[in-house]
Amino acid sequence: MELNAKVYVAGHRGLVGSAILRALENEGYTNLVYRTSSELDLRNREDVLAFFEKEQIDYVFVAAAKVGGIAANNDYPADFIRDNLLIQTNVIDAAYRSNVKKLLFLGSTCIYPKFAPQPLKEEYLLTGSLEPTNEPYAIAKIAGINMCQSYNRQYGTKFISAMPTNMYGPNDNFDLKSSHVLPALIRKFHEANEAEAPSVEVWGTGNPKREFLHSDDLADACLFLMKSYEDSEIVNIGVGDDISIKELAELIKDIVGYKGEIVFNSTIPDGTPRKLVDVTKINGLGWKAQIPLEEGLRSVYTAFQQEHLIKQ
Ligand code: GDP
Repeated sequence: MELNAKVYVAGHRGLVGSAILRALENEGYTNLVYRTSSELDLRNREDVLAFFEKEQIDYVFVAAAKVGGIAANNDYPADFIRDNLLIQTNVIDAAYRSNVKKLLFLGSTCIYPKFAPQPLKEEYLLTGSLEPTNEPYAIAKIAGINMCQSYNRQYGTKFISAMPTNMYGPNDNFDLKSSHVLPALIRKFHEANEAEAPSVEVWGTGNPKREFLHSDDLADACLFLMKSYEDSEIVNIGVGDDISIKELAELIKDIVGYKGEIVFNSTIPDGTPRKLVDVTKINGLGWKAQIPLEEGLRSVYTAFQQEHLIKQ
């Protein structure tokens, strides 16, 4: 990927897309293209085809998707499958038709079967049934992977797919109703600290384990794969290590400097006991995550505090 190549980041305002854009800028890429969803609705095939035809793009990162937590997936299943199928189909097909050199499609670890062994290896894809709550989203993502593979087979394109684990970083969703655990706990401990509240409620038993990848590490992995990986087979991106929700809560409590109690509300479900990806493949290719969780949490908390002050 030459520094003056034209690179399009679809979904550049999200957690993943914004990190990819930052990484490209930091590495000196000067010919970057991006559009907000009001400038270009990726669900509209004609508009997407016209955009690719006009821009003559060399490389594409597909970080645009309709995403959300368990509640949103449950309430809007039709929107999740429709919007994701439309976005990825339009972008992948337009990339093929306008002779894009290479495309990276981003999936998620929810594409793996619900009861697959841990850590999740790439070869477990399509070996069992999915978690029902996000099945429409996962099926759309699996269709995207298969579409990249099928285009490579039939048309000789270079469309690759990567599966990132749970991510965190700047531009995350801190809304307590719809966010994931890490931003939720940052907000809860911060607000409890400010209000001098005696305790913070953490959902579930605290026993489930999760892996957390900083979005800057993910972006670095995406650029690495774009430059060096050409195979149709999917690649996991993760840190290869996980921690319990209890340990995460204690770490965030320390970083925020909160002195009160942590109270686990075990009437709220724990969800999947563990979700860890196997990173043997990407490590073997020569990439490893660099940002330790504690360091990543500190930087996210600093950014959160700055944003919080601006909003006040
Ligand atoms: P998941 O990884 O898809 O299960 O999604 P989450 O990030 O929402 O939840 C991970 C785990 O953290 C689950 O066991 C939750 O019950 C637990 N958890 C504890 N406190 C919270 C919280 O305040 N918000 C969220 N979203 N999860 C929490």
